[in-house]
Amino acid sequence: MRLALAIALSMTTSSAFAQPITQNYLANFFGPIQELSIANKREYCGYFGLNEDGELIATKPKRGREDSCLADEPSDEMVEILASYHTHGAFDYDADAETPSSDDLAADVDEEVDGYVATPGGRIWKNDVDKEMAILMCGRNCTVSDPDYDNQAFPPVNGSYTLDGLYERDEADY
Ligand SMILES: [Zn+2]
Repeated sequence: MRLALAIALSMTTSSAFAQPITQNYLANFFGPIQELSIANKREYCGYFGLNEDGELIATKPKRGREDSCLADEPSDEMVEILASYHTHGAFDYDADAETPSSDDLAADVDEEVDGYVATPGGRIWKNDVDKEMAILMCGRNCTVSDPDYDNQAFPPVNGSYTLDGLYERDEADY
């Protein structure tokens, strides 16, 4: 579930009037993408950023694979990249996808771009690269979720994870 950035990011300074990426914005934004992601059992990914007027915009979601997604480079309209986003597809008893993967967080930290992740259970996470932590922004059914999601299939989800915490969850035996 790694989202690799295959591009060099050219950063400009933040607009003082930039709209923040709020929980409400994310829940609404991810809704229709979750529908696609769950129906097609594929990850979808892209970027949030600012246009030249400092307005929050997002790239069109790119369809990825079952457990990975490589976003297209944003168009010139996006003068500043704020964060990446991706979904985790449909619920699957073989894959604990309710948190960002350790690869997700490691890649975001490495690339110094925050990442937002929506899960089959409808949770939304922020990979905060300054804190080097995955932080739960909103929980179960915050956005569209998979009707087949089984709450009992995997260990309970914490409110935040360090990279070590995600490695431990990866390695947990269930
Ligand atoms: Zn992922």
